[in-house]
Order: sequence, then structure tokens, then C-alpha cells
Amino acid sequence: MKDKLSRRNFIKTGIGVGAAAVLTGRKNLLNAEAREGKMCSVSSGNGLRATKKAMELLNQGKDPLDAVIAGVNIVESDPNDRSVGYGGLPNEEGIVELDSSVMHGPTHNGGAVASLRNIKNPSKVAKLVMERTDHALLVGKGALRFAIAHGFKEENLLTDKSRETWLKRKEMLSDRDFWFPPKKKIDPELESYFNNHGTINCLAIDAAGDLGGVTTTSGFFFKIPGRVGDSPIIGAGLYVDNDVGAAGSTGRGEANILNCGSFQVVNFMSRGFSPEEACLKALEKISDKSKLLPRLLNEDGLPSFGLRFYAINKKGESGAASMWRGGRFAVHDGKENKFRPFAFLYERKR
Ligand code: ASP
Repeated sequence: MKDKLSRRNFIKTGIGVGAAAVLTGRKNLLNAEAREGKMCSVSSGNGLRATKKAMELLNQGKDPLDAVIAGVNIVESDPNDRSVGYGGLPNEEGIVELDSSVMHGPTHNGGAVASLRNIKNPSKVAKLVMERTDHALLVGKGALRFAIAHGFKEENLLTDKSRETWLKRKEMLSDRDFWFPPKKKIDPELESYFNNHGTINCLAIDAAGDLGGVTTTSGFFFKIPGRVGDSPIIGAGLYVDNDVGAAGSTGRGEANILNCGSFQVVNFMSRGFSPEEACLKALEKISDKSKLLPRLLNEDGLPSFGLRFYAINKKGESGAASMWRGGRFAVHDGKENKFRPFAFLYERKR
């Protein structure tokens, strides 16, 4: 892809806003910008209900961060989404551990929780970390105690379906332990969850040109207890710069953490790349760096993992890209709420 550093218009706007805001007051400038821009919400493939909800709230003039959190709360609370919140797939001990981060553009503030157990909506707790503490990330028991102090109710997040999936996987793990293999042949639907992971990311820009973002997940199925993915790591699973844009991710957290992926996407947007181009550029860099780590490569020397970025820029344009071809993401552009196919870097051989 050719370098687009010459595309300066976008940066000029950004720098202009930054400098003039000091002199003339930020609010007026953002309103002026909003007249050119448009409201938008973008999310991962499991996020069509989230973008719908977020847009409803943006239309009511709600803060973009509140809008996206309300959007992902629907999916966190849904037992049928096995990648986040209630019903999320558990760690190797059969315990659901959740990660989430939020970031608020206008204040450049953020909060996160990791390895949080027994609380269905970690994104709400992440927002409280941002609002009610002088910290950016709380983990494990401390995060749970913090949530309880704020009135969250503890509940068992392991649904019967997720418990059954976990048990079968455990029984199949080895024939050198005391667990017999599953009695019956495993139902293919259940088996399809064995390598399951997933996450929801949702980003939005409001009529004033302010941005907000959230990422929330149960992480990798059968992860080692205490493993933290990219979702609660600001800069990796989520990053918002109110002068430039917002980005978030789903997919192989480890590869993303090692490359600060969402920060990179926003950084590429600040250099004039469109949201889709910025997502592709970040994936290209991650693919390149992964060549140094054999555990992240397939037999063709390409990334063995999936990774996807979602982005919105300050103009309200959105885009997303995936390491490998396939899948779709959700976008509400203010008029229509629909799925769009990902741009991609690589295509699998048939
Ligand atoms: N990014 C998540 C993690 O690494 C998993 C996923 O999105 O599939 O925990």
C-alpha cells in the first residue's frame, strides 16, 4: 500500500482544531466540526444490537461513551453470546473471567477491569474505575471488591451450555488423567466452541464530534486463570483520541498487546489514512512483527491467528479490517444499521 503521508488535509484539520481550541474555546469548534461530520457507531460482528442502541442514545443527545456501553450491555447480558459477559466461555478451571476497557474522548480518560469474576457487565465497572478512582485498571479480586462496593450483585456467569462445553473439552484433554472421555460423540455445535474466543468492541461519534469506545470480553475459552487479553489494555484493545478518531479490536489478544494495535490504528488515522486503511496498516505491522515469533506463525510463515480492527475518524467515517478474509462488522451510519464485509490482508488457500 502506498504511503499517504502526503494526504495532509485531515491532519491540518486536526492540528487546526488543537491549536485554535486553546484560543477560542473547544466547544464552539467541535460544534462547527459537527456540522461537517455525522454520527456513527461501529461494532464487531456480534454488535448489530449494540450499534442500534448506541445510535438511539446518540440521537437523544447522550454521551458517546454511555451510548456504546449501553449497546454492549445488551450483548454482555445475553447468555447466547458465548464470547462476553453472562454465558461467556470459562477458563480452564470452569470459571468465567471477564476483561473490559472504556475510553472517553472529550476528557481523554479511560478505565478498565481484568480477570473480573461474577459480574455480568464488566464495561460498567470499567467506567466506574474511570469515574470513581484515580486508577486506570483494576484486576481480579480487587476489581470484584470494587464492583461490590458500588452495588453490583455477584452472580454465577457460567450457563449450563457453557459448563457443558467446558466439561466435554476437559474430558477430551488427555487420556492420561482420571477423567473418562465423553460418553457420546460430541455434538458438532458444541465442538465448534472448543477453540472459541470472541469479544465485542463498539465505538461511536456524536453530533458534536466527540468519541467514545468500549471493548468487553470473556477472552479465550480454557485460558490459564488470570490470563488477560488485549480488551482491557488501553492502546491495544481500545484507543480513543478525540482529535483524531477511535479504534478497537477483537481476535488474538497476545499478538495485539505486543503491538499496541488500537493505538497504531489511531496513529495511522492521524497521518491521513482512512479508518479502513489505518486498520489494514496496523495489521500489516503486526503481521510483520509476528514473523519474529514462531508461535504466532502458520506453516506458510503467515500469522496463525485472527485479528480485527474497527475504527471511526473525527469526520464520522468508519471502517474495519481483518487479518484473514471473512466475517463482517456492524455499522450504524445514522440512517441504516447494517453489516459490512471486512477489508482483509490475507486469504486462506482453498
Ligand atoms: N481479544 C480477545 C482476547 O484476546 C479475544 C477475542 O476477541 O477473540 O481476549
